[in-house]
Amino acid sequence: MNRYRVTCTNCKNSVEDVNKSIIVDDHRPALFCCEKCVDSFYRSEIEHFLTQEKELRRDLQYFDKIIIDDQIKESYLKETLKDPQEIWEDTNPLGDKYYYLLNEFPYEDQTTFYFIIICKVFNSKPSFILHYTLGQDQRFVNFYRTSKKVKGEEPKDGFSKEQMVIPQEILNEIQVLRSEYFAQMLELRKDRDIKYEYFPLYEKFLTETLDNPDEVYEQVENDKIISTSVKTAYLNEEAFFYYVIGMKIKEVDNEVVLPIFSFPTTDVDLCKYFNKGSLIHKKVRN
Ligand SMILES: [Zn+2]
Repeated sequence: MNRYRVTCTNCKNSVEDVNKSIIVDDHRPALFCCEKCVDSFYRSEIEHFLTQEKELRRDLQYFDKIIIDDQIKESYLKETLKDPQEIWEDTNPLGDKYYYLLNEFPYEDQTTFYFIIICKVFNSKPSFILHYTLGQDQRFVNFYRTSKKVKGEEPKDGFSKEQMVIPQEILNEIQVLRSEYFAQMLELRKDRDIKYEYFPLYEKFLTETLDNPDEVYEQVENDKIISTSVKTAYLNEEAFFYYVIGMKIKEVDNEVVLPIFSFPTTDVDLCKYFNKGSLIHKKVRN
């Protein structure tokens, strides 16, 4: 006799022996009765990543496919799962986590290509593959380098190399502000603005915006200095504004801005909304 009724997340049938069930996600207390149920539960996400790749290739006008033997492909897939050179983490607005594994392999004419896997992780191991693809174009590969690097070479001039210990209460505060700003942005965002799924392509503008902004606004919110940096930039010849909203932290002889939230936009109304506080810096243009 079981004390509790535990059901499969997909088919809702009772799971008699929890030890024989399948769990694929560290961050979601969901179990499945069989492989088939995992597949059908994630079917729409699998299709999403497939469509996303098609749209990305179309937008970048990048259509070359890497042609390799099926058996070699299989071994490259296993190698990337087992020991990826780069691991990137991404969190959707509901808090679900996705992992992107990247491995560079040699290709004909002394070039290389990337094997890219999008998967779920359970017990620190890839547990379910949502999508995989192969590509050479840097813009294409960079799309799959998402918001947070878990493993791999450190970015050369990222702010992350500053070994500052940030108190937990500030980290919590940043987390709360991030959700607030995110909700505000989604509410005000117009349909014709840059799509949310393309945001990772723009993340490379974060450091540049902080280091060399066109404008910086500052305001005090709950005793904290909120700093908004804006930069006009170009991606594939399309102009847009990049926003980094951060919290200014003062150390003894150091002042840093911890990014809370960043986004690209082409919408002047959204810019007006986020240009909060007083303008403390404006780049002189010639
Ligand atoms: Zn089931």
